[in-house]
Amino acid sequence: MASDKNRIITIANQKGGVGKTTTAINLATALAAIGEKVLIVDLDPQGNASTGLGIDRRDRTHSSYDLLIGSHTVAQAAIQTAVPNLAIVPSTLDLLGLEMEISQQADRVFRLKKSLQEASAAEYSYILLDCPPSFNLLTMNAMAAAHSVLVPLQCEFFALEGLSQLLETINQVRRSVNPAIDIQGIVLTMYDARNNLAQQVVSDVRTHLGEKVYHTLIPRNVRVSEAPSYGKPAILYDLKCAGSQAYLQLASEVIQRERQRKAAA
Ligand code: ADP
Ligand code: MG
Repeated sequence: MASDKNRIITIANQKGGVGKTTTAINLATALAAIGEKVLIVDLDPQGNASTGLGIDRRDRTHSSYDLLIGSHTVAQAAIQTAVPNLAIVPSTLDLLGLEMEISQQADRVFRLKKSLQEASAAEYSYILLDCPPSFNLLTMNAMAAAHSVLVPLQCEFFALEGLSQLLETINQVRRSVNPAIDIQGIVLTMYDARNNLAQQVVSDVRTHLGEKVYHTLIPRNVRVSEAPSYGKPAILYDLKCAGSQAYLQLASEVIQRERQRKAAA
């Protein structure tokens, strides 16, 4: 298991467009605003978390690729963002070739874990891993390195079906690369209260997964979707909007549950 000094949370869902990156950026920003020291590792070759935090491609001197091939440490690859207390290891298109490059190596799934066990990673209280929308080697590295998985789930018709696939994958991860991995929580995203189907999805997911589902619902909110084009988290772009407020609330739920978990441990 990863060290107890910090909490490494992988944000995963094999579906694209469900709010993984938006959750990584805004949850990280909210945790940082509360005073936590936070690192995002962008593991998606698309680099949306990096762009959304205003890290220009030209400034991505080092990246998560360098962590995975073991050429640089977190301290060398992390870039401070405009948000105090929030740093990011950005992604570059190099990640696209990684699978081929390390596919023959016995430790290929444990590269990120090894990198995050180094001393420079321990100074962050939360490390959020933003995964690509598939169960590839990058996602498996995240699953192997993390204490837990946080699942953003879009309130739509196929949500439960996708979720059961994901839960099965997490069970496989437990049986193989990371026996200790836990579900941090499930967060329902892009909720539209006027939509009856969305309400039904929320109630179904709560029935099936109970306490694992956060009380906070992230509403569909146009300000949230505009923010990345300004290279800013929604919380900086428009603190008052409903989406930002929901992410702040989510962060306090995450912290509260962490306190309970630590007290029970
Ligand atoms: P993923 O990382 O799972 O592919 P994203 O976080 O990139 O998903 O979100 C997909 C798209 O939906 C993006 O354009 C994003 O801006 C938008 N989006 C995400 N969350 C919300 C929200 N709460 N309200 C409105 N748009 C959202
Ligand atoms: Mg994404």
